[in-house]
Amino acid sequence: NRKAIIIGSGIAGIASSIRLALKGYTVEVFESNSYPGGKLSKIDLGEYRFDAGPSLFTLPEQVEELFHLAEKDPKEHFDYLKLPVTCHYFWEDGKKLKAYADLDLFAEEVNQQLGEPKSHIKEALINSSYIYDHLAPLFMHKSLHDWKTWTNQDAMKAYLKMGKLGIFSTMNEANEKQFDNPKLIQLFNRYATYNGSNPYETPATLNIIPHLEFNIGAFFPKKGMHDITNSLFQLSLDLGVTYTFNQKVDEIIVEEGKATGVILADNKKIEAEIVVNNMDMVNAYKTILKKQKQPKLLLNQPKSSSALIFYWGIKRKFEDLDLHNIFFSDNYLEEFDHIFKKGRIYHDPTVYINITSLYKPDDAPEGCMNWFTMINVPNNQGQDWDQLILESKKNIIHKLNRILKTDIEPLIEVEEILDPRTIELKTSSAQGALYGNSSNNKFSAFLRHANYSSKIQNLYFCGGSVHPGGGIPLCLLSAKIMSDMIPDSV
Ligand code: FAD
Repeated sequence: NRKAIIIGSGIAGIASSIRLALKGYTVEVFESNSYPGGKLSKIDLGEYRFDAGPSLFTLPEQVEELFHLAEKDPKEHFDYLKLPVTCHYFWEDGKKLKAYADLDLFAEEVNQQLGEPKSHIKEALINSSYIYDHLAPLFMHKSLHDWKTWTNQDAMKAYLKMGKLGIFSTMNEANEKQFDNPKLIQLFNRYATYNGSNPYETPATLNIIPHLEFNIGAFFPKKGMHDITNSLFQLSLDLGVTYTFNQKVDEIIVEEGKATGVILADNKKIEAEIVVNNMDMVNAYKTILKKQKQPKLLLNQPKSSSALIFYWGIKRKFEDLDLHNIFFSDNYLEEFDHIFKKGRIYHDPTVYINITSLYKPDDAPEGCMNWFTMINVPNNQGQDWDQLILESKKNIIHKLNRILKTDIEPLIEVEEILDPRTIELKTSSAQGALYGNSSNNKFSAFLRHANYSSKIQNLYFCGGSVHPGGGIPLCLLSAKIMSDMIPDSV
């Protein structure tokens, strides 16, 4: 059998290992952490358990497809449910809104709470599915770096609809046209944060995202988000993939324009016919590919935003809260200006709280809740994070106190903090960005690294920093696009 080495066991690395094992390769994964999953891991704090990074799960069929390919029934290995309410929204003036999965109920709720005509919701979601239907086959499922992608039927259809696909306006401009109530504009602008972008800059094409959440659905793995990692990791082991943890790769060996293996941190050389890089692309070029020609244009693209997370064990229950909760800033434009232009954190940030113990009670002790409390922050440019964390914690607590009308601080019994510096340290993401390069301009989809190297034969790329982008579904698709380029091992 031919051998494939994968550098990194992020979710795309694991998915790649499954696909290459099924193609007949002997697959070996090297991971610098002591555990698989990268950003999609977990944190235990006393009696509380938290999903460490991603909390929103869309397009579960991307996970299931891997089980189907291995001729296993996904339901026996990975179970999930569809959320009846995707998110609870809160504003400072006391307004609340539940985003029901049932679109009639959601339109009714929006109409009752915000006075917005129901038809506006329906039209916006038709528009969102229109963008998805035209662009998903082109951008999500194929390599943008293969001329065949640009000359097929899907591409031809998309060329004819450029205006309707939102390429020429920003997300905010499109949402201001679609909705009357500023709160609804804000709610739909928030989808830019799903890939770490700024709604006041990113093209309206990203209005594709509400389609995933509303028209298809938001889901929750019954054993928590970390079960996506666990179940796929187990599947890869069943297929014979081997992992070496606590093993950093120091260099990709390139001989006569071909990747031929890797050099490990202890100087050991491992040879392979195929090398797949799942490490963040920017840091990969700076370290394990530092002797190779650098794709400067791609490396210098602005990065997506990062996050500041407080994992809090809260010794009380709150009836008003659901799995996903958003407490909106009173000035969204100012908040995004701080994140993307000033490199700072706004004093009134939008706060997200994810509480898995509502769906998975053993994640918190009886009568308690596990609050994954997150705000979007700039990526790491050397800010004084210790100071920013202190200020932000105070601002978040004051905001929650105001809206929940409770003194939160005494309820926090355990705490751990993740910030852009520690995100980079734990997963090697350049500047701690959550989703690789940002999508703040209309060319950004083209300014992501391809799933292969055009300079070095047998070297491939997967993961959130390369095409088609960050987030679990796109990472899983990167593994598919990448492995589709690789011939079966004979
Ligand atoms: P990563 O998770 O980035 O892992 C890369 C792995 O490579 C790491 O394990 C690292 O240790 C290893 N590695 C790096 N260099 C080396 C080396 N030299 N040698 C060996 N190993 C190496 N996505 C969603 O879909 N929904 C969400 O709600 C969501 N929320 C998020 C919230 C947070 C706080 C974060 C951090 C991310 C979130 N994301 C979300 C994004 C999602 O987590 C990522 O896009 C995805 O998990 C990235 O996977 P990846 O395969 O690119 O690898």
